[in-house]
Amino acid sequence: MTSAEAAKEVVEFGRYLNQRGLAPGGSGNLSLKVDDGFLVTPTGYRLAFLKAETLARLDEQGRHVAGDKPTKEIPVHLAFYRTHPECKAVVHLHAPQSMALSCLGGLDSDSPLPPLTPYFVMRVGRLGMLPYFAPGAAELAAAVEESGRFDALLLRNHGLLIGGKNLDDAVANAEELEESARIFLTLPETRREVLTPGQVARLEQAYGGKRS
Ligand code: ZN
Repeated sequence: MTSAEAAKEVVEFGRYLNQRGLAPGGSGNLSLKVDDGFLVTPTGYRLAFLKAETLARLDEQGRHVAGDKPTKEIPVHLAFYRTHPECKAVVHLHAPQSMALSCLGGLDSDSPLPPLTPYFVMRVGRLGMLPYFAPGAAELAAAVEESGRFDALLLRNHGLLIGGKNLDDAVANAEELEESARIFLTLPETRREVLTPGQVARLEQAYGGKRS
């Protein structure tokens, strides 16, 4: 993929996520690994109105080398890439259902969502939840760095963080997490039918888990 094609993809997925209602207001940011570093959505832009020429360009070490200033949440993206070398794209959203879930009390931080559907197991994988940190805080990036055992993260009172083998895959994974949160919040608490550990294990065997 050329640099121009990669930039076009970031712009198009930004618009798509905003139109789907998954990046309300000025929230949400995307990053994509390219040959010489990273393409990142800039700070101060709504995802609906990104421009290819103003996307931030970072070198392989994560230093800003061209374009507008990257999102203040870029340390979180870079921490996620370091702990998930298989990921080529990272999506962070304040998507409404995931945001609502992140504000719900009584969740298990090692498993904030039960496996209700096979698609959750196959696309989201192991989900963890980090405590609340202010957006852009160094402590948030440090917490992401220490959470590499999870495939995806819910950020307490903040939103979701997930990756993929390309931007299309990362966006689809984010949508699956958002849909899983919606289903969980819709069902009455006493009447949820969750997949059994055996059913989850068979899915992981059949599909090799998220990291294969
Ligand atoms: Zn955020």
